[in-house]
Amino acid sequence: MKKIVTKQHTTITRWPILDQSDEDAVLDVLRGGNITTAKIIQDLEGGYKNYIGRNYAVAHNNGTAGLMAAFYSLGLQPGDEILVPTATFWASVLPMIWLGLVPVFCESEPETLGIDPNDMLQKIGPRTKAVVVVHLWGLPCKMQEIKSVAEQHNLKIIEDASHAHGASWNGIACGALGDVSVISLQGDKLAPAGEGGMFLTDNYDLYEKAISLGDITRIIELETAQRRFAATSFGIKTRIAPLSAAIGLNQLKKLKENNQQRKRNHLYLSEKLEALGFDCFIPTNNIQRVYFEFIIRYRETEPDGLLEKLQSLGCRVSRPRYPLLHEQPFFTEGKYKEIGRYPEGCGEIERVINSNFSKTALENQRLIKLPNFCGKDNGILDQYAEAFEAAIK
Ligand SMILES: *Cc1c(COP(=O)(O)O)cnc(C)c1O
Repeated sequence: MKKIVTKQHTTITRWPILDQSDEDAVLDVLRGGNITTAKIIQDLEGGYKNYIGRNYAVAHNNGTAGLMAAFYSLGLQPGDEILVPTATFWASVLPMIWLGLVPVFCESEPETLGIDPNDMLQKIGPRTKAVVVVHLWGLPCKMQEIKSVAEQHNLKIIEDASHAHGASWNGIACGALGDVSVISLQGDKLAPAGEGGMFLTDNYDLYEKAISLGDITRIIELETAQRRFAATSFGIKTRIAPLSAAIGLNQLKKLKENNQQRKRNHLYLSEKLEALGFDCFIPTNNIQRVYFEFIIRYRETEPDGLLEKLQSLGCRVSRPRYPLLHEQPFFTEGKYKEIGRYPEGCGEIERVINSNFSKTALENQRLIKLPNFCGKDNGILDQYAEAFEAAIK
């Protein structure tokens, strides 16, 4: 088949976008001489507190460590259960296992691809204490329904907003929708630091716990009796490197502009693809989505070989890259038990792994991932639209 997409992908899909201002930010720290505890770390935390609208922020060396701190801060007991989507990145879930907490997998709903509030209700038991919400691909979850289930059943919300820098739900920023919230600043993310993660909360006690877990030099700044742990912390180290913090803060300053560029491109193409019968996950008015990934699906039954056809026309399309967690060897081979060291009588996890996630699996198979069009359009978007039109004919 003759290729339709002939324009270059390289420039428009290039990410992260690093320029002179990032170089200057890094050089400032380097020349300042303190490459371990420089004030840029607090500046980054201040930037996020401000931007997301929260009382406390603690920068971490990565999002996984931030999630570890989030699970730890809630003070849950071994054997306590947390509802989680099976369709997410591993780091939304696995850190909890080191604390003896039991992930209870739930289906995702097809509208936002987030955890399904109806399935949450099915999976709640006497030991269920919290829920992990992940705004997958930049689409805010069904927070109204999730919050209402959480309130009814007294569940804490752990929000993983690693795909959602700049998104909002009912005027509230993603990152401000959980009792504790975490945003990864890893290099693929919308405001990358290279490696980094931000822990956010409005609750002082939770903030203090996050600091105490792994930020040894910050414990001394605490104004409570918690300062007595300043010689040990709680056994791990989670501080971000200032050189990363410098990039992270500069990228936060450019987030709005970068998000707008992605949105312009993706909405332009979405409009054309919607007209061809594709669902491009355009949200309702009360929701601002962002485009961590550009994911779509065909509204009707997908024609056989659609992806292959698009690929032969020059489109870089694939299925989204997260496999369902409950199917992974870490769970199916029982490895989680070596880490979780669960107390007697909490074999529930096996029942959950073996239960049916056909809705999520089916929905997942239909999703089509396009490249992220991050830069200035070079005409490639029209070529994609043309290729999609040819492919479904
Ligand atoms: C990237 C990511 C994380 C983990 O972040 P790291 O900074 O890579 O440790 C957590 N959750 C989701 C959904 C992510 O995409």
